[in-house]
Amino acid sequence: MQKRKILIANWKTYIKNFSDVNKKIDEIKDQVFLKDLDIVICPSYIHLQSVANKLKDFEVSIGSQNLCSSESNANTGEVLASMITDIGCQYCILGHSEVRERDNESSNIVASKVQIALKNSIIPIVCVGETLELREKSDYIKFLINQTIESLPQVNGIEDKDIIIAYEPIWSIGTGKVPSIEQIEEVLSALKSIPGLSSAKFVYGGSVNEKNIDEICKVKSLDGVLVGGASTDVAKLKIISQALQDNCI
Ligand code: PEP
Repeated sequence: MQKRKILIANWKTYIKNFSDVNKKIDEIKDQVFLKDLDIVICPSYIHLQSVANKLKDFEVSIGSQNLCSSESNANTGEVLASMITDIGCQYCILGHSEVRERDNESSNIVASKVQIALKNSIIPIVCVGETLELREKSDYIKFLINQTIESLPQVNGIEDKDIIIAYEPIWSIGTGKVPSIEQIEEVLSALKSIPGLSSAKFVYGGSVNEKNIDEICKVKSLDGVLVGGASTDVAKLKIISQALQDNCI
C-alpha cells in the first residue's frame, strides 16, 4: 500500500523570536498546499506551544527536535516526552547528528529516547548518517545498518510501530552536497532490510531545497524528506511540498 508522503521541517534554531515564528506559520497556512501530504513543523522547544496554538484546527503536525532520555521528575534543563505530548506534539526528531555530536549522544541513548517516545505515543524520527570519512571508506553501509539497529529498541518493541528513519549523511547537512539517487537508494534498500521496520517510513535529509527536490523525488520508495535550512523559507517550503505531491510515485 502507498504510504502518505511526509515533509519534516527542522527549524533548528534558525527562527529566533515569537513574532517571526508566528509570521511563518501564518504564511504556511496561507500558501502551502496539503493534499496527500503530511507536514511536520519542528520548531525549538520554546516555540512549540505557540506553534501548536496557531496550528490548532489546521492539518499540519508539530514535532520537537529532541526529548529527555529519562522520565523522572529531577531533570534540570530538560523537556520530558509527557510535556511535549501535553501540548499536542505528535513527532520528535531523535539522534540528529548535531545532537549526537554536541551532547556526545550514543546510539544507546537514542534508543532509550525512541522507547520513551513510543511509550508516549510520539512518532520518533530517528536520524542516522555517515561522515564523509566513512563514506570514502567502503564500509559505510555496515556502519549505517549498525547505527540504525543500535538507535532502536529491541525488534519486538518496534514491530508494527509508526517510526520514521531519516537517512541524513553528515557530509550533506547544511553543505549543499546531495548524494546521487543511486547512493540514496543503496542506503535505503540496506536500511529497509533491518527486521522490525516493515511499517516504518524512510525519508532523506541533507541540503534538500527547492532546486533539487524534483531530482530527489526520483528516489524509488522514498516516503518523504527532512528539510533544515530551506524549510524556514515558506516560498521554498511551498515548492518542496508541491514537488513531493506531484513527482513522487
Ligand atoms: C537537518 O539538519 O536535519 C537538515 C536536513 O539540514 P539541511 O536541510 O539544512 O541540510
